[in-house]
Amino acid sequence: MIISLKEGITPEQYSSVLDRIKSKDLEPHMDEGSLMTIIGIRGDTRKIEENYFMIEGVKSVKRVSKRYKEVSREFKNTDTIVDIAGVKLGNGYFNVIAGPCSVESREQLFESAEKVKLSGAKLLRGGAFKPRSSPYEFQGMEEKGLELLAEAREKFGLPIVTEIMDIRDLELFKKYDIDMYQVGARNMQNFNLLKELGHVNKPVLLKRGLSAKIEEEWLLSAEYIVSNGNSNVVLCERGIRTFETAYRNVLDLNCVPYLKQITHLPIIVDPSHATGNIDLVPSMSLAAVAAGAHGLILEVHPNRKQALSDSNQQLSPEEFYNLMKTIDRIKSIL
Ligand code: PEP
Ligand code: MN
Repeated sequence: MIISLKEGITPEQYSSVLDRIKSKDLEPHMDEGSLMTIIGIRGDTRKIEENYFMIEGVKSVKRVSKRYKEVSREFKNTDTIVDIAGVKLGNGYFNVIAGPCSVESREQLFESAEKVKLSGAKLLRGGAFKPRSSPYEFQGMEEKGLELLAEAREKFGLPIVTEIMDIRDLELFKKYDIDMYQVGARNMQNFNLLKELGHVNKPVLLKRGLSAKIEEEWLLSAEYIVSNGNSNVVLCERGIRTFETAYRNVLDLNCVPYLKQITHLPIIVDPSHATGNIDLVPSMSLAAVAAGAHGLILEVHPNRKQALSDSNQQLSPEEFYNLMKTIDRIKSIL
């Protein structure tokens, strides 16, 4: 529910409105950008009549019409800016997350980190727990991978982004103080994991499911995290499954401007997994920037032929450097 307040509302009337909300065990949410004229109500309001909040000082009360509530623009009109250990995404803040698909060794990770930093990436990625289609493929270095990421963060000063696949790994993520928890495409509807991430005090990168619909599935998954208390969610378009088999996935760039209309959350794009092909990654990265993405996540490997996962889509450090230069030019035009 959204309560709109009259312009001349007195402090006494304002606190009566807050008291009414709290008396129903609900939580008021003030949208800072809207000069205290709108209060969103968090919690289950299904059994409460709108009239209950129509007291002095209140202009109108309306229900959020969408199934996703707190992530909708109806609930909060100002863009959310997500701060990942000092690096911001959203509302004019654009940044690039880069690094290898998987953490494979100290040398491989450190070389990737050093090179992506030199080219201007502000966050380091690398999978320690890998969701592989085949049980016979490299499953990730697990805890050792998190430890190496934490070491790389110290050495290169880049906050770290890595995938959490299972609630049972939450303690390890806390132990290594992971800066941003990635939920991969395959786990976008792991509702128990999403609920737990609502209670974590770190930003979450929520990738789009393999064939997830935007409003009926993806945003409702984001709603699981936000409604459980963690409003620091960044959406990531990573390609969807269609009839086309020429590339790994089809990058749905429509979703960037579309999501900006219906949600206040930042949206970034992953051209590496969306294309699965280094020859396509640079063009689609530029297209994503031009479409208004708040950031990119790109796979970069110092020696992709030796990579233990996703060897066809990881840019070399040189390719990444050249791409970052062109991204700067596109940004300056915009
Ligand atoms: C990844 O980013 O490491 C990954 C596995 O991506 P996705 O979940 O989008 O397939
Ligand atoms: Mn990968």
